[in-house]
Amino acid sequence: MRTANDAKLALRIIPREQHTISRKNISKAALRVLYRLNEAGYNAYLVGGAVRDLLLGGHPKDFDVATNATPDEVKKLFRNCRLIGRRFRLAHVVYGAEIIEVATFRGTSDEESEGDRHIVDGRIVRDNVWGTVEEDAMRRDFRVNAMYYDISDFSVRDYVGGMQDLQDRVLHLIGDPGTRYREDPVRMLRAARLAAKLDFRIDASASAPFAELGPLLSGVAPARLFDESLKMFLAGHGRKSFRMLEESGLLKYMFPATARALKRGDKALRSLIERGLENTDARVIEGKSVTPAFLFAVLLWGEVRDLAHTWATHGKDANEAWARAATHVVAEQCQRVAIPRRFTITMEEIWSLQPRFEQIQRKKVFRLLTHPRFRAAFDFLLLREAESPAIGELGQWWAHAQQLPHETLAAALPLHQASTPGEVEPVRASAPRKRKRRRKPAAGKSGAA
Ligand code: ATP
Ligand code: MG
Repeated sequence: MRTANDAKLALRIIPREQHTISRKNISKAALRVLYRLNEAGYNAYLVGGAVRDLLLGGHPKDFDVATNATPDEVKKLFRNCRLIGRRFRLAHVVYGAEIIEVATFRGTSDEESEGDRHIVDGRIVRDNVWGTVEEDAMRRDFRVNAMYYDISDFSVRDYVGGMQDLQDRVLHLIGDPGTRYREDPVRMLRAARLAAKLDFRIDASASAPFAELGPLLSGVAPARLFDESLKMFLAGHGRKSFRMLEESGLLKYMFPATARALKRGDKALRSLIERGLENTDARVIEGKSVTPAFLFAVLLWGEVRDLAHTWATHGKDANEAWARAATHVVAEQCQRVAIPRRFTITMEEIWSLQPRFEQIQRKKVFRLLTHPRFRAAFDFLLLREAESPAIGELGQWWAHAQQLPHETLAAALPLHQASTPGEVEPVRASAPRKRKRRRKPAAGKSGAA
């Protein structure tokens, strides 16, 4: 187990010519901040994920700076600076759309340092203890996240063996894993997320406490877990993050309903989630927009569908059963992960439109086609293919229906409700599909967007 003293002993300075970080790959705004601090006589380092990602050859999405200047001193140096944060006071230096976060070195001991730190039940609730760069390294989570790029000589300072871990593609916590997870249980999720993002393994010492300490995640603010879940699932590595969460046994603390449904062996749900996450990853990588609503609709679908079916077979009106099931599942989920209202509204729409795809009747079909959430709901329907052959056919039917001229579609549709899914079949067979194929052989490309 490493202690602060071990870390000091382990300091390794890697000179410019022995590492791959080039200023070309650091944002102009970050460089300006670093140089300005340095010229004013302060220490200024690029830190954390940016250094890690640059060393791995990646392109960091944000650049964080650490310094021995206090937030007030930073504010004096930059006009475009605001101080934020209650638990940690930080400076944000703003250049257009880019924000450089400047943090004063944080200490680990409350005796010798300035500032104040409050610990309640082993958890840090306020933490403004200024410290040295060594201490700042020690309070970071993983060794690979505790390297410092020094603007004064372009060297990398590695206090805890982060370079070695980058080479070995492994995540080690700094310090005693149990203590570090108790201080901040989100570090468990960060382990799973970073392992997925970087394609690293989590060292056994860092994953061993998950089983015992996972339940501490229920004490984390739901708003923070929402942010964390977006970083997991909407950053291009959602499929892998999900696998890591499931394998590490942490899924049930974030998405209890999802974990329950998967535990029941729901293969169709697993397929829906995997394909939903793969599609989302592909969209992120192509730079297309993604919405948290679709993601959460995918993750929670199994429980909503099963509850709605149960309630409908117990004599509730079908629409009411769907609405109640959605409200119930969302309410439970929001106790863990605070999904903002604007997204839960869309989720509920995506779900409640699903049974309407089975209603093949002229007016209803057109009403659904023009619904503002049609596209999302249709993409969702396609993901449900594995539920039953009938759902698969329904997906194809709607894929064709969308591409038909209004009149052709109208002529092919019955005026009255095909009330059971079985009746959809003859409609589909006599419907536009064949004619359509002959006229437009290239059709049928549409898929989940
Ligand atoms: P990403 O690539 O997703 O941004 P990151 O490692 O940069 O990953 P951030 O949340 O941006 O993650 O955090 C920046 C740095 O702050 C981390 O690299 C780490 O050094 C430190 N850090 C972040 N969260 C914690 C935490 N919960 N406990 C300790 N250190 C943390
Ligand atoms: Mg970061």
